[in-house]
Amino acid sequence: MVRVGVLALQGGVSEHLEILRGLGVTTVEVRRPADLEGLDAIVLPGGESTVFDKLARAFGLAGPLKAGIEAGLPTLATCAGLIYLARRVLDAAPGQQTLEVLDVTVARNAFGSQLDSFETRLQVEGVAEPAPATFIRAPVVTEIGPDAHGVCRLDDGRTVGVQQGAITGYAFHPEESGDPRLHIAWLNSW
Ligand code: GLN
Repeated sequence: MVRVGVLALQGGVSEHLEILRGLGVTTVEVRRPADLEGLDAIVLPGGESTVFDKLARAFGLAGPLKAGIEAGLPTLATCAGLIYLARRVLDAAPGQQTLEVLDVTVARNAFGSQLDSFETRLQVEGVAEPAPATFIRAPVVTEIGPDAHGVCRLDDGRTVGVQQGAITGYAFHPEESGDPRLHIAWLNSW
């Protein structure tokens, strides 16, 4: 049985847990370094990347999490999760740190405030039909390093999904709709 952790410091944890459990995956809520033991993969949810940063450092989780992902732990990151992985962040909060494991630049809050949230459907590389995507104070990917590549774009050409080895990151929330296809595609990608 596949064992997938969900970073459970803050944010949209339960939606990911529900989708993963619905797919027959064993889930682990990750708050402490010991929770990383024995995981086959990890999901970083949406929420607030500055809070992930503060809590992960306070709980001693940031270092082991970064080491695990750098060592190849398959990772799915959505929205704040994507920001938390990015090597470079535009509009970062003062002192905000990230894990710097994904070679992209992301611009935080690229679509404006909470009121500018929207839903759309996106064609994602490796997924047959367009999938529902919810954008909530979402970032965009403004620069992609040589080891990463874009896997989905908005109609205006802005990149909102990337892959780098075993890491998949989306600027939006695929889990809000309950449609499991992007999780299935990720589970099948490693
Ligand atoms: N704007 C948030 C951040 O900077 C991300 C929002 C989200 O995850 N829905 O972390």
